[in-house]
Amino acid sequence: MDFTHFLPEETPFKVRFHYAVTGMSEPKKCGCGCGEILANPKSEFISGHGNRSAIVKERKKQAFLDRHGVENPSQLQSVKDAKKATSMER
Ligand SMILES: [Zn+2]
Repeated sequence: MDFTHFLPEETPFKVRFHYAVTGMSEPKKCGCGCGEILANPKSEFISGHGNRSAIVKERKKQAFLDRHGVENPSQLQSVKDAKKATSMER
């Protein structure tokens, strides 16, 4: 029986075991945004990635800011409305 079929082929047994005992039904990815699957689904980050999350978050915020001109999505609607009002920008 394989409860961890959702994990990639190369996933070590130790990792599969963690997922089996925690009853996960899908891979849990590292919270830093690197996209890697956590070895232990009880943790939020791959070891050493916890402090990266702040950097990544900052980077994402910057990317969002570059793309949308606002720092977070909650500010976006007002921008949309402003754009709609002026209809100057694309
Ligand atoms: Zn990570």
